[in-house]
Amino acid sequence: MIPGVLAVAGSDSGGGAGIQADLKTMLALGVHGMSVITAVTAQNSLGVQGAWELPVEAVRAQYRSVVDDIGVQAVKTGMLASAELVETVAELIGGTDAPAVVDPVGVSKHGDSLLAASALDSVRTKLLPVATVATPNLDEVAQITGVHVESEEQLREAAAAVLAYGPRWVLIKGGHLPGDAVDLLTDGSQEHWLRAPRYDNRHTHGTGCTLASAIASGLAKGLSVPEAVAAAKEYVTGAIEAGFALGEGIGPVDHGW
Ligand code: PLP
Repeated sequence: MIPGVLAVAGSDSGGGAGIQADLKTMLALGVHGMSVITAVTAQNSLGVQGAWELPVEAVRAQYRSVVDDIGVQAVKTGMLASAELVETVAELIGGTDAPAVVDPVGVSKHGDSLLAASALDSVRTKLLPVATVATPNLDEVAQITGVHVESEEQLREAAAAVLAYGPRWVLIKGGHLPGDAVDLLTDGSQEHWLRAPRYDNRHTHGTGCTLASAIASGLAKGLSVPEAVAAAKEYVTGAIEAGFALGEGIGPVDHGW
């Protein structure tokens, strides 16, 4: 049986991030990708020109259609836009017997907001508690916990602050720090440090979506969380190295490397 992975996320019309990156990652990693679209963005290499969230009922119906018939071996969440959608998705995931990778998407690389400020509290109290793995970057850590990480040593403090909201594991993505791309995966007792060389490539659109989807794909195939995260880090590092120019701005990571 081919494992099924469900992405609950926003559409990126430019094909670099969001649902489009999720499905490309899943195809590349040999799982069956499915989607619950939460929002539609008008987006290209220069940024997000517009965003429209879907009605809660449309999100709920997509989720039920997939889970009630096909079934899912893992779920991944990305852009959830509003407090109402965050709470709806948290409730749906909480009632599903599959691991959930939560990418608490806040702001795009261009600085466009993909989550209302009023939704942050729902992320903390509803969404993080149902996550098997949460994958915040340092901006998202600061938004969620108030911890501002400026050095590798502070990644531990950031991880503890996120774990306090209840995810089973947290992967703090330290890619915005200078030097090697260092991430910390921990469940509060085990610690796994993941290190990859930094590629001098500005075409990194879709990195976060790709990493979270790759983790979910690994979990669906039966890997443990540390195994799935290590494999996903390797996948996204290759995709970043192969990222290519498209349009006038930041191009996408490449799934065909
Ligand atoms: N657009 C959508 C729909 C997303 O879900 C995301 C990230 O999760 C982005 C854009 C931002 O991608 P990036 O920060 O890699 O440019």
